[in-house]
Amino acid sequence: MNDKKNPGIVPERFGPESRFKFKCHPKVACFTKCCRGINIILTPYDILRLKKRLGLSSEDFLALYTTPQLLEKTDLPVVTLKLMDDDLSSCPFVRDDGCIVYEDRPTTCRYYPLGVASLSHREESTDPEFYFFVNEPHCLGFESNAIWRIRDWRQDQGVDVHDDINTEWTDLIVRKRTFPASVKLTEQSKRLFFLVSYNIEKFREFVFESSFLKRYPVDAETIKAIKDDEIALLKFGLRWLKGVLFKTE
Ligand code: SF4
Ligand code: SF4
Repeated sequence: MNDKKNPGIVPERFGPESRFKFKCHPKVACFTKCCRGINIILTPYDILRLKKRLGLSSEDFLALYTTPQLLEKTDLPVVTLKLMDDDLSSCPFVRDDGCIVYEDRPTTCRYYPLGVASLSHREESTDPEFYFFVNEPHCLGFESNAIWRIRDWRQDQGVDVHDDINTEWTDLIVRKRTFPASVKLTEQSKRLFFLVSYNIEKFREFVFESSFLKRYPVDAETIKAIKDDEIALLKFGLRWLKGVLFKTE
């Protein structure tokens, strides 16, 4: 969960070999406190996993469970998980006994108590990925003596797979952040970013039911790969988007 309380403070950086003490379990007194009053930016792969889990289209998932937001310092349209209108601003998926979409929980939830720099603080595309601690006072997980290496934590939480699929997306974000604030994307570019990032069904229609394939030649093998595979289509779309937004192809 991204800490928005101190946006101006540069966090202490940690690398994959850094170690920390932490344990989270259902008997901890703060159980599920981290699932309330939070700001969770959803990645493209988060949407693929969650909408499949809930049996929804991307469009329905976006309408029911997300709030649009412009990502700070990038002007890129992203979505965050829409919180409930209750006293604690709870995540819609939290219950007293935990998360009902745990196996398909978003990237940010998997990283917690770590924060991911690419979504918030990384300023240069040549800057290696780094992590920081969210450090929310209610989290008692740090009182444990269980020691984790960040590399092992990421693997244990299944976040490596998410990061691999989202690589081109996070690169796009970091790259846009390196541009001077005066460099603006057109509204059309922002719409394309949103389409590829968050609405895979509509992007498939755009590729296969418009003049897309006439304007952008795509080899037969790639067409076969992206036709029925949403992850392959997403990766293809993000590579294409990079060319369109930054004229790299
Ligand atoms: S606040 Fe920390 S220890 Fe408590 S449930 Fe959340 S992650 Fe676990
Ligand atoms: S998706 Fe699950 S883990 Fe993430 S905030 Fe919601 S309930 Fe907590």
